[in-house]
Amino acid sequence: CPRPEAEAADSGVQVVVRIRPPRSVEGEEAPDPCLCRTSANSVAIQGQTFTFDAVADAASTQEDFFTLVGPPLVENCLAGLNSSIFTYGQTGSGKTYTMWGPLSATSGDSVACERGLAPRVFEHLFARIKQEQGKHKDKELIHSCTCSFLEIYNEQITDLLDPMQKNLQIREDVKTACVYVESLTKESVSTMKDVTPLLLKGLANRRTESTSANADSSRSHCVFTCVIKSESKNLEAGSNSIRMSRMNLVDLAGSERQKLTHAAGDRLKEAGNINRSLSALGNLINILAEISQSGKPWQHVPYRNSKLTFLLQESLGGNAMLAMICTVSPSESCKSETLSTLRFAQRAK
Ligand code: ADP
Ligand code: MG
Repeated sequence: CPRPEAEAADSGVQVVVRIRPPRSVEGEEAPDPCLCRTSANSVAIQGQTFTFDAVADAASTQEDFFTLVGPPLVENCLAGLNSSIFTYGQTGSGKTYTMWGPLSATSGDSVACERGLAPRVFEHLFARIKQEQGKHKDKELIHSCTCSFLEIYNEQITDLLDPMQKNLQIREDVKTACVYVESLTKESVSTMKDVTPLLLKGLANRRTESTSANADSSRSHCVFTCVIKSESKNLEAGSNSIRMSRMNLVDLAGSERQKLTHAAGDRLKEAGNINRSLSALGNLINILAEISQSGKPWQHVPYRNSKLTFLLQESLGGNAMLAMICTVSPSESCKSETLSTLRFAQRAK
């Protein structure tokens, strides 16, 4: 592999590439000898080097990966700001594994070490809340967390905690200008025992459709959101302050180009909608990266181009923190999709 190039300039968005290990299942093609991690933050493919905030390969465990990405996002939420994690990549590249891990691991059985970012983010969040609450003598801290889980498929929103609720509408609160989804189920959580069943239920309700590229291909975006309300009561002064922040965990639909999968009819319409929200997200992150790099004043940001960006607008831009995890397959047959994922990731820098 060629030597890594100079490090890219920093931006508000953290971009991390994860190369999954080769699968041992039959039919998996040979690993691509031209794709390799060349340093802690660079990857080379066919002699071309791409540099990001970090690059993880097959040697990176779920725990390593959480340690790389998760803690600063949790701290940001505790400081009253919004954080988001996105997983982007071709179907089969490891988005779902990275975000949630295998369902059996989420439910806490023998492969619990394989649990993904989501359960670990909440374990860390609850541990930090406990620490914070024990730290202050002069004030009382009360945290309350409320979770929701939704799916965006064909630009329509379904409640994953109550899938009978389909085609939900995004509304804007006129007073606060906050965006919310009308009648979406919200559940209070304070421990992992509360969060785990929500993850399991929502993921079980998630839509999957077979395409010729992968029998279990995810054609929808799913968004798990936790709203963290921190109330601080100053015991001496008798004053009270409230902060609200959000943690969004977004497992995006497969980014593969549809010509690969011979899509037609409904599948083609679906493909158009998937590409629309993915490219709207890509463009938006691109604009945010430009603003933060150039220090230019705030400009018009096109949040309304897709349901996903409209819904997440308060978490995209401003002081919000964002980790874009781009997953790639090591297989030679995926080379062109891998290149297109790396190019998307590069644009987000
Ligand atoms: P996607 O959600 O992008 O379609 P998945 O997360 O379903 O892809 O991953 C495809 C397969 O590869 C699954 O069987 C998953 O368990 C496995 N996999 C993905 N990433 C890893 C990894 N880092 N380590 C081990 N197995 C992985
Ligand atoms: Mg998936």
